[in-house]
This record gives sequence, C-alpha cells and structure tokens, in this order.
Amino acid sequence: MTPVIALVGRPNVGKSTLFNRLTRSRDALVADFPGLTRDRKYGNGVLGGKAYTVIDTGGISGDEEGIDAAMAEQSLVAIDEADIVLFLVDARAGLNVADQAIANHLRVNQKKTWLVVNKTDGLDEPSAVAEFWELGLGEPRPIAAAHGRNVTALIDEVLSPFPERDESIPVDTGTKGIRIGVIGRPNVGKSTLVNRLLGEERVVVYDEAGTTRDAIEIPFERRGKPYVLIDTAGVRRRKNVHEIAEKFSIIKTLDAIKECHVAIMVLDGRTGLVEQDLHLLDYVLTSGRALVLVVNKWDGLEHEAKEKMRAEIKRRLGFADYADLHYISALHGTGVGDLYPSIERAFASANAHWSTNRLTTILQDAVESHQPPMVHGRRIKLRMAHQGGANPPIIVVHGNQTDSLPEAYRRYLTNTFRKVLKVRGTPMRFEFRSGK
Ligand code: GDP
Ligand code: GDP
Repeated sequence: MTPVIALVGRPNVGKSTLFNRLTRSRDALVADFPGLTRDRKYGNGVLGGKAYTVIDTGGISGDEEGIDAAMAEQSLVAIDEADIVLFLVDARAGLNVADQAIANHLRVNQKKTWLVVNKTDGLDEPSAVAEFWELGLGEPRPIAAAHGRNVTALIDEVLSPFPERDESIPVDTGTKGIRIGVIGRPNVGKSTLVNRLLGEERVVVYDEAGTTRDAIEIPFERRGKPYVLIDTAGVRRRKNVHEIAEKFSIIKTLDAIKECHVAIMVLDGRTGLVEQDLHLLDYVLTSGRALVLVVNKWDGLEHEAKEKMRAEIKRRLGFADYADLHYISALHGTGVGDLYPSIERAFASANAHWSTNRLTTILQDAVESHQPPMVHGRRIKLRMAHQGGANPPIIVVHGNQTDSLPEAYRRYLTNTFRKVLKVRGTPMRFEFRSGK
C-alpha cells in the first residue's frame, strides 16, 4: 500500500503550503472531494522515488472549546486513515495553547507522529525549535514549506520504513481472476450490492479473504470463473447484516481504485447525481481504470423519476460514456447478473493487444473515408498506428504535421478506433507523433 501522510495543526501554520509542495510532482493526481470529505483534501505525490498520499486537514480551530469538536470532525478521520502524522507548528507564532491541546490528542494516538516546525526561514534553527520540545512529541524538525527548506530530507526520513514499491497497476489476473472494486459515496448501496454479487446463485465464496490495508479482498467463483471482490464497505467484516457499515473512507476508496482491474461505480437512482459522484468518477477516469456504471435503487421508482435520472445522466456523465451503464436494484437483485458481461468486456478491452497491421489498416480506412484537412497548403498525413500500452490502451498515430490536427478530426479518429475495435468500458489514450 502507498503510505498515507496526514497534515494536522492549527490554521495558518502552513499545512496547505506543505500539501502543495508535496503534491506538486508532475504525475500528482489530486483527489479533491468537497462534500465527501468536508475540509479534507487528498493528493498523491512522489519524492525520492517513493510514492505517498497526503491528506490536508484544513485546520483545527484554535479556540479551546472548539478543539475537541473540530478534531473529531475532520482531523481524527484523517489521522485514522493515515500511516504517518505530520503535526505542524509555527516557528514565528511560537508555542501556543492550541498546539498543546492537539499534542495531547496525538500523544494518546498510536500513529507515528512527527513534530514539524514550519516557517524557520531566516531564523536560527536550533533556537527556533527549542520551545517545542515541551510538547513531548520528540525532536522538533525545522522546515520552511514555502521555500522547500529541509522538506525533501524530512519526507525521506518519514518514508524510510516504507519499502519502495512498484506503483504500476496490476494487469495480470494470474489464476485469481478479475479484481472488481465496488465504489461510491456512502449509502448508495455498495454493501447491498456486494452481498448480492456474492449471494447470487452458483457463486462460491472462498474463505481465504486477504486484507489490503482495511479493504478486504474476497475471492469467489461464478460459473467456474474466478474473481476477487475488493470490499470497501467492510461487508465481510461484519458478523451479521444488521451491524452498521463502517465509516466511509476515501483512502479505502482510492486504494480500491488503484488495486482493482474494473471499478463498479454505484450511483443512487433516488437521490440523483451529486458533486461527490462526479468527483469520484473523475478520479476513476484520470486513473485510467476500466469502469462499469451502476444506477442503483431502480426498484419502485415512478416513471417520471426514472426519466429525470436518465436525462441527468445523459447530460452530466457524457465524459464517461465509454462505460456500460446498468439500472439495477441491489436490494431485489434485479439486473445484478448482467453486470458480469460488462465487467468481462471492460477487462478484455482494457487489456487487449492489437497488431500494428490491424491498427494501421483501421487508420488508413478512416483516412480514406474522411481526409484530414490541409494546413499551410499541405495535407496532414497519417501513416501508421501502433499500440503504445494497455490498461488503459494507448494508440500511437504517426504522421506529418500531427500537431495541427483539429480536435474534431482527432475525435473522429478516436471514435473510429473505438468502434472498429469494439472497445467498451475503458478509457483509451491517443498520441499523435510527427516524423521529419
Ligand atoms: P494552513 O492554514 O495551515 O493551511 O496554512 P497556509 O499553508 O495557508 O499558510 C499560512 C500562511 O503562512 C501563508 O501566508 C503562507 O504563505 C505562510 N507560510 C507557509 N509556509 C511558510 C514558510 O515556510 N515560511 C514563511 N515565512 N511563511 C510560510
Ligand atoms: P453503502 O453505504 O453504499 O454500503 O449502502 P448500503 O448498501 O448500506 O445501503 C444503504 C441503504 O440503501 C440501505 O438502507 C439499503 O437497504 C438501501 N438500498 C440499497 N440498495 C437498494 C436498492 O436497490 N433499492 C432500495 N430501495 N434500497 C436500497
């Protein structure tokens, strides 16, 4: 698992400055889920060859009465989700009662905590950190987040117990089958769907569940085919169905997206789409993961409500129209069996391999039925295409003046490739390269 670092501290100590610095690397995928997380912000970063996720907690209110409430509301969740806590204090403001209160919380917490003294730029480090020893959290570490001073060295040390690991996504199903992640905001019906998927006729659930962080992997077999379900809702850990579901965890959701081959994103047909759905979906899309969309709670809905939901999806989810869309009732099991063909197709599409010959033929046919435009009196030439990668598939198109290809023509080509190759359920990426 990617280590998770939580940034906590009073407002204005420099948490978001540090957050920005830590997530600035080019491939940082910032997951910002307003509404889902209230004041927490999630970002990915890489420093010194190691990848991590950072949670910025926005700030713990400085007034004593509010501290417990504020801690409970967001920082405690972040600390809970994190492997490492960076507790930031402000060298310029000096030690403060609120710092003391936060330190008391952190001392009883089991999480590995680092005391970080920010804004030491222009100050003598040893004297700037001296008073913070009093917090009883070990050696105070001076940094200047705004200038990057000591930041890399600190993170190197913080991450040193964590092994370097390959962040690339698991492509090979081996003998274990397609890994399915069921994701979605709270209460959309994830647990109900997981139970339904496992409870279907002829499904054999194996008892050797493994754990990835807190999400549980459930291996099972359906009609002789193996699958692994990644259970973000903690269904499997509950002793009975009446036990309440676990707290919703963004980190578990992000892990599940990272660790699965196909994500099933569950939407709620009764509440309609909300911002949180779009943010999660956007994250799935950016991560390149194969996807099946599910609108749940379709039972007992009035015709009018159904039409409204359909229209809303068409209007707002156009960017995810590469994914199969199912209207189901997890509660009654209606439509649940139909998810499997979509899962299979999404996986197959994401991991397909096509020969250069085939791709070039598709390109040439497309060009023949619809020529690219002229630029500066010369026609743009497209010569050949080859596959540059899988999961998601990357098609590399070679030609001349490809930089000048209009957006509409690119769209025409990408749609043609999709249609001819029958790609469903996975994003596709296209690169255009110009020769000399
Ligand atoms: P947050 O409320 O904890 O997220 O704090 P911010 O990151 O918004 O920073 C609060 C203020 O401190 C801003 O004006 C920053 O520019 C400033 N600041 C942050 N880091 C440093 C630093 O290393 N040195 C100095 N001098 N100022 C800093
Ligand atoms: P989770 O938080 O996403 O895991 O959601 P749950 O599976 O716990 O479901 C939240 C609530 O929605 C529960 O009361 C379920 O009984 C209800 N629910 C789930 N699926 C359906 C469905 O297909 N139809 C209806 N009417 N209710 C459902």
